[in-house]
Amino acid sequence: MTVGVHPLAGFDKLLHYKVPETLRATLQVGSLVRIPIVNRFHLGIVAEFSAPKDFPVERCKPLAGLVYPFPALPPDLLSLAKWMSAYYAAPLDSIIETMLPTAVRKAAALKQEKLLVVARPLDAVEAAALGKRAPAQAKVYVFLSSQPRPVLKSLVLDRLAVSAAAISGLVTRGLIREESRRVERIAYADDHAAGEHVAAQPHRLNAEQQAAVDGLGAALATGKFGVQLLFGVTGSGKTEVYLRAIQDALAAGGGVAFLVPEVALTPQTTARLRSRLEAIAPDHRVVVWHSSLSEGERLDGWLALTTGQARVVVGARSAVFAPVRDLRLIVVDEEHEPAYKQDETPRYHGRDTAIMRAKLAGALCVLGSATPSLETWANARSGKYGQLTLTQRIDDRKLPFIDIVDMRVEAMRQRGGGVTLSRRLVDGMHARLAKKEQTILFINRRGYSSAMQCRKCGHVEECPHCSVSMTYHRTDETLRCHLCGNQRNAPARCPSCASPEIKWRGTGTQRVEESVRRVLPKARIERIDTDTMSKKNRFREVLSAFRAGKIDILIGTQMIAKGLDFPNVTLVGLVDADLSMHVPDFRATERTFQLLVQVAGRSGRGDRAGEVVVQTFTPEAGAIQFSRHADFVGFATTELKVRNDFGYPPARHLLHHLFRGPNPEKLRFYAEQWKKRVEEALGPKVALMGPAASPIEKIQDEYRWQLWYFCNAPVTGIVAEITRLRAVFEWPDDMIQVLDVDPVNLC
Ligand code: ADP
Ligand code: ZN
Ligand code: ZN
Repeated sequence: MTVGVHPLAGFDKLLHYKVPETLRATLQVGSLVRIPIVNRFHLGIVAEFSAPKDFPVERCKPLAGLVYPFPALPPDLLSLAKWMSAYYAAPLDSIIETMLPTAVRKAAALKQEKLLVVARPLDAVEAAALGKRAPAQAKVYVFLSSQPRPVLKSLVLDRLAVSAAAISGLVTRGLIREESRRVERIAYADDHAAGEHVAAQPHRLNAEQQAAVDGLGAALATGKFGVQLLFGVTGSGKTEVYLRAIQDALAAGGGVAFLVPEVALTPQTTARLRSRLEAIAPDHRVVVWHSSLSEGERLDGWLALTTGQARVVVGARSAVFAPVRDLRLIVVDEEHEPAYKQDETPRYHGRDTAIMRAKLAGALCVLGSATPSLETWANARSGKYGQLTLTQRIDDRKLPFIDIVDMRVEAMRQRGGGVTLSRRLVDGMHARLAKKEQTILFINRRGYSSAMQCRKCGHVEECPHCSVSMTYHRTDETLRCHLCGNQRNAPARCPSCASPEIKWRGTGTQRVEESVRRVLPKARIERIDTDTMSKKNRFREVLSAFRAGKIDILIGTQMIAKGLDFPNVTLVGLVDADLSMHVPDFRATERTFQLLVQVAGRSGRGDRAGEVVVQTFTPEAGAIQFSRHADFVGFATTELKVRNDFGYPPARHLLHHLFRGPNPEKLRFYAEQWKKRVEEALGPKVALMGPAASPIEKIQDEYRWQLWYFCNAPVTGIVAEITRLRAVFEWPDDMIQVLDVDPVNLC
């Protein structure tokens, strides 16, 4: 018997091995095995049990060993890996590596505790004889007989001061037995004990929630693959709906994966799920899964899922690969979040991968959002996905009032271009401080300093052909379109109002913090951004302190806009709404709208009404106007039309090809040659744009050029052709090229 094995050795090729007699019974598709390659050992995943015809079986080497007695990569995940490899043009072994926790890939031994227990009773005569011949053994035996439960071996050795030989002697005589028990480290167990303001009791559903729960229940009951969009305004109680669906899936004997966009959101979600599910049944254990867990925690969680001891996983993007058995339900919360896309190889989208996984497993995939991505929205419109809608906030709480401050007017009033905080926002913070209520100030993380915007009239230069902002290139004082390459000299005066105050801009979190401290010296202020996030528990500490009312004003990027629920926050300020709008990305408007709605959703979640202040230089922009009334449908309808007119996603698929190297002329030359080759081979199947300089043209002395491909679904065939062409194209040695399918971050 031979097996085909995917080696985890840095290359993509199925290798064949003979199966030794001893492994025949236990080996399965998905088993992690040790394999010899040349004269070294590597790990590999068993992919198939047959060998190709005419295969020289006699020349096969035998497998060197089996790492775990159960499949490390169940067949549905192996199929998913193959799909991802084809769809995202990524090597299969890079995907398998992403799927398996590091500890598993290193074939880490499962940590075991040894326990001792009495195997059979002794009569008085035997006992006396043992006492005489082997007093140490007798001591151990007597001790163990007095214990109601198995005792740790280490404890026996320690307490009784006997040698290991005494114990093995007893084992050989058959008087005691050694048992193994796995040690488990449960991530976030401490939070659970502390009970983070979470009601374990289910809420009584309102009518809309009930309808949504019924809808999901019906979809689950079919036992077939399907996708449902749960479109619910912020604060409409989507989590309660997910929880009911999860309970349904568990009751039917299935497993569940729950994805959140950021690692930082896992503790809160985990606590909610645990307090509900683990109270119902102890085997409803919730496993936490994301990249910043320790290796041991990851391994334990992986094992609990693999062996079926746990059936629920919660985590960020990579939790889509958790080996949940009998998967019935995948929830993708905040499905529109760009964080679901991985920005290194393999460049997969967590949401789309979740949908594919659900398809392969015959499960239901629920996508939840108050501001669905236009991709998802288009699929719901066309009927490809089902849709359930929650239009009301819980207890009919009002959506907060959104106050839009025109910063052009503010700049005139405060006599200066560098105004960070409007009067409106400062007054609001003062009032909150007096009432002991809290404020959150958001700074746009997607701020992109190379957009050129007039400080006087708010004008931003756009490419006439592409409807994205032009990018300012300081090196040669040009404005360029990074989609089509259109270029012209950067103007010295605003093309719209002739003001000389046209410049690239940006507001850092630190600068905002300084301004706030200046106007509110007595306030207790904390800042959360990527710098402060780097310390593992810092983020959680700050959020706990904020929740406990020890902080008055929290300043942060939109990282804190997602999913968090602080009842005492009655004012939310968005310091610079424009920063996300004028990035050279056709999704800029969508992102801005999402941001505004999310941010507004953080205000007034308690029983007091909330207020939102949005500062902008372009108050007339559609994203801002639609967000005033949280009018997603209005926004989506307008924006989808723009996308269709320009053929941008979701109208077509987009592929991004980045070229990097020390010599920009060479990059351009080869990118153009390559473009010709693709056009010859693929003809009208793709529309190419570029090559053009990237918006960030140079990073660490390396130049960047890019090419865009627009094509109709299905995309896999086109990716396959591009992959084939890429493999034979004569790329120069000093040029690196990266292909990104369905890119999410265009800057
Ligand atoms: P969303 O995710 O839709 O923004 P959440 O799921 O966070 O909203 O729910 C908002 C708040 O409403 C939470 O504090 C939640 O516990 C509460 N909640 C949800 N459903 C109900 C209900 N049926 N009755 C009362 N409170 C509810
Ligand atoms: Zn102007
Ligand atoms: Zn253009």
